[in-house]
Amino acid sequence: MARPLIVHSRALKEWLEGFFDLANEKRVERGMALYRRGSVWDYHVSKDGCRALVEGHNEHYYQVDVLWGSLPKLKKEGVYLPYPIHDLRADCTCPDSEAFCKHIIAVVIYWIIDKDKRLLEKTPAANIIDKKTQFAMHAYQEKINAFRRLSGQKLPSFTRFHHKSLITAPDIHNSIQKMSHEVMRWAKNKT
Ligand SMILES: [Zn+2]
Repeated sequence: MARPLIVHSRALKEWLEGFFDLANEKRVERGMALYRRGSVWDYHVSKDGCRALVEGHNEHYYQVDVLWGSLPKLKKEGVYLPYPIHDLRADCTCPDSEAFCKHIIAVVIYWIIDKDKRLLEKTPAANIIDKKTQFAMHAYQEKINAFRRLSGQKLPSFTRFHHKSLITAPDIHNSIQKMSHEVMRWAKNKT
């Protein structure tokens, strides 16, 4: 068995698995091989389906049409996909009488992988959140470290004064000054 195809979106992966279940196993393997060989050419996609040329043996090209225009599109995890899968229509110009020949399978894989790539480019939300979280965590750690450094240091004596005593200090000064003025005035009047 060849290496598996990588599909990031779970909805797309499930859809493709559902499609593979409807196809002949040997043709799925050959379709995958065609896809990997880069045999899908001139690919176009529209809201009704997709069309491509698939390079077969002896440089012969087959035209594939996959049509989902008549099927309802269900939104799953942000992706619109045609359901039910078994009602998907597909045509190929090759002589294979199977509903889904290897050329059709190669084009369907191409369509899913292309959709998956676009989805990844469009919504890298997970990556952004990760980066934001990482950045926030880093900033938080920096603050904690700075606080630890400060609190670990022996504080200079003036910062150890109670907040309230710092405020009352000028008042004491003023009242002492006032008091001495009173005493001076009293003493002056006495003489
Ligand atoms: Zn075919």
